[in-house]
Amino acid sequence: MVSESWEFYTAALGAMSSLATTRINQKLQSIPHSLAYQATADAKNVVIIGGSYAGARLAQRLTETLPTGYRAVLIERNSHFNHFFVFPRFGVVKGKEEAAFIPYDNLTKGAPQGIFQHIRATATEITPKKVKLSNGDEIEYEYLTVATGSWQPAPSKFDVLEKRDGVKAFQATQKAVEVAKSITVVGGGPVGVQMASDIKSYYPTKDVTLVHSRENVMNAFGPRLQGVVADSLKSLGVSVLLGERPSVKADGSSAAEKGQNVGPGSLVFRNGSQKAYDLVLPCTGQRPNSSILSHLLPSAIDPKSGQILVRPTLQVNPGPASEKTADSNTAASNRIFSLGDVAQTGGPRFARAARAQAEVVTSNILSLIQGQKEKLVEYHPAMYEGAIKLTLGKEDYVFCGRTADGREIMKFGKENASNENFELASAWKELRARLDTPTPIRTGWEERVAAFDKHKQRFNATWGTAR
Ligand SMILES: Cc1cc2nc3c(=O)[nH]c(=O)nc-3n(C[C@H](O)[C@H](O)[C@H](O)COP(=O)(O)OP(=O)(O)OC[C@H]3O[C@@H](n4cnc5c(N)ncnc54)[C@H](O)[C@@H]3O)c2cc1C
Repeated sequence: MVSESWEFYTAALGAMSSLATTRINQKLQSIPHSLAYQATADAKNVVIIGGSYAGARLAQRLTETLPTGYRAVLIERNSHFNHFFVFPRFGVVKGKEEAAFIPYDNLTKGAPQGIFQHIRATATEITPKKVKLSNGDEIEYEYLTVATGSWQPAPSKFDVLEKRDGVKAFQATQKAVEVAKSITVVGGGPVGVQMASDIKSYYPTKDVTLVHSRENVMNAFGPRLQGVVADSLKSLGVSVLLGERPSVKADGSSAAEKGQNVGPGSLVFRNGSQKAYDLVLPCTGQRPNSSILSHLLPSAIDPKSGQILVRPTLQVNPGPASEKTADSNTAASNRIFSLGDVAQTGGPRFARAARAQAEVVTSNILSLIQGQKEKLVEYHPAMYEGAIKLTLGKEDYVFCGRTADGREIMKFGKENASNENFELASAWKELRARLDTPTPIRTGWEERVAAFDKHKQRFNATWGTAR
């Protein structure tokens, strides 16, 4: 019988080698493209709003493929790329928070001159032909992509635009966690589970409670992963309260209403009982940043989820015809795409899915530029896009994916170097950023060497020093 680890490695290797081959081909094709592309003064704009996992990848792909006469314009309000994967841990562990913010300077390194412009601003409104910015400027577009993601309360995301304020917000959360004796994490999805597990494993004497509104933690995932997570929380000593949506009564603080970390105060449960706490960390309440489309295409925003409706081609779906929407606006929807967490794509709300969607959008914009509507491709989520790597405290992690027939397959890991370092180097590499942050980040090779050293130490501790 094939072992689960073997099955997992085979599936992961298949997905990774196919992605790597595609990337190598793209890189090779970008060489003749960069030689052929010529900057022109009247180039038409392909505008991207939002430069995170979806928008940053899209900017890179467009600058590798757009023909002469077009250029990519990225509008992003943040000073740095926020690498959210590390936010739960860096809200607990001190010292590496600088590295969660990756500079945009080299995002499109190697792209031909004149093909890319990065504008640091907030987009405030979209008209059929222009994007209006917070600084009063208006940017014309031929094609537009909305990759504005979602809002979440701190410490999942911080409501700040500058790296220095993000670093301060991390340090404030770390301090609040350090001094609190009793901490309640609200929300039993991946972020809440990681946060509660990290707090309890870095500070074993603290009283840590995880409150979740559903009957199982990780309810959006399969039953096996739910069981693994429940067992892990129990063995770490995290108290879990299910089926509860407590209201937060903070002592003299308005932070609760703003969805920020609060404390001290109490949680009020369904039956009226109360639990005192020193700190509450909200890990719920994701809200899509879709209001930017509310003037142009109000019916394109799903009233239930708040996400932007898209067609399988990821062009915006203008929604049911309404008197509020002018015909010219509906026509504009053919030139407007949406992807990532803000869009109702049918794919998982993960970075891998956002990147896969960037490929579909790139291909479809090129087809429209070439006047080949019949070549538009559709987005269908691949299995690997929904795979999750979940840390379960400082030493353990589980990687969970699904097979083609929907079975959950897992790989458990313990104390490997990448778990400590969160593969930060690969995130920096994706943005083509130089590893010159004040926080030391190990490269992939250094991580492997560190992992080997750790195994060697364990071997020596068990069997004596090798001679
Ligand atoms: C704490 C945490 C941990 C996570 N861990 C993982 C993980 O381990 N693996 C994984 O695959 N996924 C993980 N995710 C999910 C993943 O981060 C999201 O799927 C991903 O961020 C979606 O990317 P996006 O580009 O669609 O949107 P977002 O990342 O939300 O980014 C949207 C961008 O648009 C910008 N923006 C918004 N509005 C405007 C405007 N009007 N003008 C200009 N700019 C604007 C924002 O500043 C932001 O940069 C995690 C998420 C969180 C919060």
